[in-house]
Amino acid sequence: MLKSLTLTMLLTSIVCSGCSTSPTGKKQLNLVSDRQISAMGLSAYADMKKTIPISNDRRRTAYVRCIGDAITASLNDNQQWEVTLFEDDQINAFALPGGKIGVYTGLLDVAESPDQLAAVIGHEVAHVLANHGKARMSAGIAGQAGMVLGQIALGSQVDNTRQRNAMAALGLGLQVGVMMPYGRGQESEADILGLDLLAKAGFNPQASTQLWRNMAAANRGSTPELLSTHPAASTRIRDLERQMGKALGLYRNARASGKTPTCRA
Ligand SMILES: [Zn+2]
Repeated sequence: MLKSLTLTMLLTSIVCSGCSTSPTGKKQLNLVSDRQISAMGLSAYADMKKTIPISNDRRRTAYVRCIGDAITASLNDNQQWEVTLFEDDQINAFALPGGKIGVYTGLLDVAESPDQLAAVIGHEVAHVLANHGKARMSAGIAGQAGMVLGQIALGSQVDNTRQRNAMAALGLGLQVGVMMPYGRGQESEADILGLDLLAKAGFNPQASTQLWRNMAAANRGSTPELLSTHPAASTRIRDLERQMGKALGLYRNARASGKTPTCRA
């Protein structure tokens, strides 16, 4: 009885002290510090640069950087963002805590204009700004901690092996967490925030719906990585269109204030 009460109190304190609010007002778990998550992002990025070939096509690299830089320049987050073009057929891109962006050459066949590529990069950067990786990882940690605490509460001896396994799983979760797929809610949030990001950088937000249509068409052959974890194209296009009026306002303001990125493929 006492034990289960203690467990409840412990879990409650973990859940409450670890809560933070995402940019669109959703509560999310937050058990990892900014410094920890940035360090994990940086180390994952360094690993990828060692294992995935980096494109040596200067023109395409400059094109992708031009778009990434335009988006991150309007963030005012004092972060040194970096963009790498990886030579890989995957239709995918990512952004990691610590300010690291990766685009795969396969994506350039589907994102057929600068505005469309900006839509993908805006979406990925939005995941980072909204601390989605952190929330995913925190949920993983809470799950593992819950298991161990549960065993204690049940009065069962947490033997060394079991404890070690739990810790290993936790460590593994920390490593994998940086690149863990996001949930549906996080995807929708990244769509909405990402739309604003690309509009504020002076890219036409209307390109985002065409991008997801292209993505769905590419999906007929094999599932692009970006879609395997993302909501149905029709749903996200409908949600994006709902936000389009506001995004177009941001876009017009950005253009009027001189944000007219000219990134050429
Ligand atoms: Zn996403």
